[in-house]
Amino acid sequence: MRGTIAAIFTAFTMHHKAQILDRRITPLLPYWPGRGPIAHMNHDDLNHWSKRAADWARDYHAGLRDQPVRAPVKPGETAAKLPAFAPESAEPMEQIFADFESIVPGATTHWQHPRFFAYFPANASPASMLAEQLANAIAGQAMLWQTAPAANEIEAVMINWLRDALGLPDGFTGTIHDSATTTTLAAILTMRERVLDWQGNKQGLSALPQLRLYASGETHSSIDKAARIAGIGQDNLVKIPTNADHQMDTGALDAAITSDLAAGFLPAGVIACVGGTSIGASDDIAATVAVAKTHDLYVHVDAAWAGSAMICPEYRHIWAGVEGADSIVFNPHKWLGAQFDCAVQFLKNPAEQINTLGLRPEYLNTLGQDEITNYNEWTVPLGRRFRALKLWFTLRAYGLEGLRDRIRNHINWARECHDTIAKMDRFEITTAPAFSLFTFRYKESDAETEALLTRINDDGRIYLTQTRQNGKFVIRMQVGQFDCTREDVMMVPTVLNNLTGG
Ligand code: PLP
Repeated sequence: MRGTIAAIFTAFTMHHKAQILDRRITPLLPYWPGRGPIAHMNHDDLNHWSKRAADWARDYHAGLRDQPVRAPVKPGETAAKLPAFAPESAEPMEQIFADFESIVPGATTHWQHPRFFAYFPANASPASMLAEQLANAIAGQAMLWQTAPAANEIEAVMINWLRDALGLPDGFTGTIHDSATTTTLAAILTMRERVLDWQGNKQGLSALPQLRLYASGETHSSIDKAARIAGIGQDNLVKIPTNADHQMDTGALDAAITSDLAAGFLPAGVIACVGGTSIGASDDIAATVAVAKTHDLYVHVDAAWAGSAMICPEYRHIWAGVEGADSIVFNPHKWLGAQFDCAVQFLKNPAEQINTLGLRPEYLNTLGQDEITNYNEWTVPLGRRFRALKLWFTLRAYGLEGLRDRIRNHINWARECHDTIAKMDRFEITTAPAFSLFTFRYKESDAETEALLTRINDDGRIYLTQTRQNGKFVIRMQVGQFDCTREDVMMVPTVLNNLTGG
């Protein structure tokens, strides 16, 4: 592996050394054929090129089914096509656009490909893409109400729309972050400060009691990352065992908290999952909240992927009791069609998070508007994109009913695909569908399952990824693409058959 990286690095360096020589003979004033010296791109040019980009986007999406889902390139190939230095003088957009077309699509893993069944999706509705174009045109920064009144007020309304759409009670309000990772970090920082009476921010943690967090092994690694960054430490994130349904064992949770208290630790909060990343596990939220609340602990629910499915009332039993949580995150950028990035956090008592994250130096004071909501005080970064616009466009352009239809189809097609694979002799289902995610393995062995996965992804018709279940290497399959059809999903058993001689 090291040898390969060294070889790529050497090729890259030699290529760029040659370019250093080229650069010495590059004329200082480039010439744009037919237009004389290059005029710098202006807003009229932007209009022209935006139309070209829109045509390109239409053709790109229309042609995706004919492309391999995963980029068929080797590490270093793309970088080697780029000059080593930024140009000293302007280049014609014609050339820049041509380079984009020749270099980028062929080295792109197509997240909007209808047969992208890897990881969790980052599905993007066309309406969301349009909203992003408009937000890009405004190119604003929504850190304060005053710096972006429309963005901030639409954000507040979208939070209410989504809260109601997910069946959450009126008591929740919330905000939009970039990712579930930073949302969970915000929640864990809030747990920390709440239990320390906001002294951690002030004094630092060294003289304060050792904190504890609790979660099952089915939660995402973003919880581990937040425990590290928050200064609580990975060792103080207690991983509670799970039961046969892959749910956190709430008896074990209670016992762990009680024994930590007796040992002088300071429990700060519990993180529960709904639709965990590996196999889609969901904790018993009501029982988890009940245990946490007997110890007055803060509860954060990570429903990054599966939260979107809660627009369908028939799935809400899976997170029954969620109204008892203090903080909930879900990513409309995963399964609701509002493209990456867009993570929504619902909060029962935002004041606790604002007390943790909010700072008001003089230059951020908004004179005469102190009571207005300034969402930068709710989130880790100060700067904020206008993410609410893509929610507004998506929710209106498809309606909740249209979005529910999509999610229901995904879940039904995943089940049909699962049933078909379950009947294939050479395969073994390792976990049943949780929403639209299930796992399976090639009966032969771990090594053969892994080799098969490589062949599947080299084949290119579909894209799947892996996890480990009960110590075994298994293949994950999830359905969630905005434009996918039943035929796209049923391509999975076809590819499995083709590649295993079925
Ligand atoms: N939580 C869960 C359950 C996830 O599946 C993921 C990512 O897939 C995350 C958190 C992290 O999401 P993000 O990329 O928005 O930080």
